Amino acid sequence: MTRPEISHATSEESSLPCLVCHGTVGASRLPGLLQCRRCGFITTDLTLSHAELASLYGRDYFEGHIYSSYLGEEVGLRRNFRKRLEDLKRLLPDPARCSLFEVGCAYGFFLADAQSLFARVTGMDISEHAIRMAIQRFHLDVRCGDFLQMPETSRYDVLCLWDTVEHLARPDLFIQKAARVLQPNGWLALTTGDIGSLNARLRGAQWRLIHPPYHLHYFSRKTMTALLERCGFEVVQVRYPAVYRSLRMMLYLGCNLRQERNARLISLLDRWSFLDREVPFNLFDLMFVVARKKDGPHLDSRGHDPVG
Ligand SMILES: [Zn+2]
Repeated sequence: MTRPEISHATSEESSLPCLVCHGTVGASRLPGLLQCRRCGFITTDLTLSHAELASLYGRDYFEGHIYSSYLGEEVGLRRNFRKRLEDLKRLLPDPARCSLFEVGCAYGFFLADAQSLFARVTGMDISEHAIRMAIQRFHLDVRCGDFLQMPETSRYDVLCLWDTVEHLARPDLFIQKAARVLQPNGWLALTTGDIGSLNARLRGAQWRLIHPPYHLHYFSRKTMTALLERCGFEVVQVRYPAVYRSLRMMLYLGCNLRQERNARLISLLDRWSFLDREVPFNLFDLMFVVARKKDGPHLDSRGHDPVG
């Protein structure tokens, strides 16, 4: 895969303010990452355009580069998604009357199961390859594009971002837009790593989720809550559920087989079918956050945050 030319901010102090609190962002204790001096939010010094981001998520990302095979992980991924659907079912009084939109829907595994529960499910992804797969396999109402450019003509009851927010160039703008396209008291559900977790703090620069240019931002429970509140949401749940992963994926991540020099080992692992088995995995560093849009006076008529 051809890597995009990525512009780096090279000074000790970023020219961009913190996207959580607008404070000054400077060097952090983690090499290559910056930290807000006011709220502690940790981010990269990368500035990527939509086209640069899109070029990262071709077929190679899903089949061979990050995942040995996203398709091969389907059983575990869908098991995780069904658990999240169970959680959403508990929060929503009548999902059969609700519409759901997923940002970063990838191959459509979540939407494929969500469509039996919700009145209408739709989604979007930056990856043309992923959207093609979602349409071919599940005939879903999904499109390739930039959520920030999507017309604000529809309103949704639930908006989901599963393991997506850390990949976005401007998660603050996505969450502000989520507030605008959600119905009053609508729900925002997301998962992302927690860099404030014990495991992340113990692992430091070696934490498995520090992975630029794919992961551009590193939230903690505190900074995610602060961003959601600034964008007009009330956080109603932060949990750290186990996720199911195949033994192959755990080996793949644990041994850092992302390096091309391990290509022979990856091809060997792909042939061992006993590694298909899914096992629960929990280092309590993956947050499952549910927030509810507040219908308060802090939002203007278009849902804009007057501070932002
Ligand atoms: Zn900050």
